[in-house]
Amino acid sequence: MMPQTPAPRVCSHCDGFPVVHITTGSLTLDGKRRTLAAACPDCKGTGTRTARPALAHAGK
Ligand SMILES: [Zn+2]
Repeated sequence: MMPQTPAPRVCSHCDGFPVVHITTGSLTLDGKRRTLAAACPDCKGTGTRTARPALAHAGK
């Protein structure tokens, strides 16, 4: 038997768009819109999540 590595799945929290840019409404000195990059808190900006091995060998 081969050990199976969990396939990375698209993050259900951000649906594969881990980093969004939020306009703050203020302008920079050169007239551009100021944006903030916000990474998805769930996948930490990777866009994918690996399924955790739930309770594998949890017995102690
Ligand atoms: Zn995410």
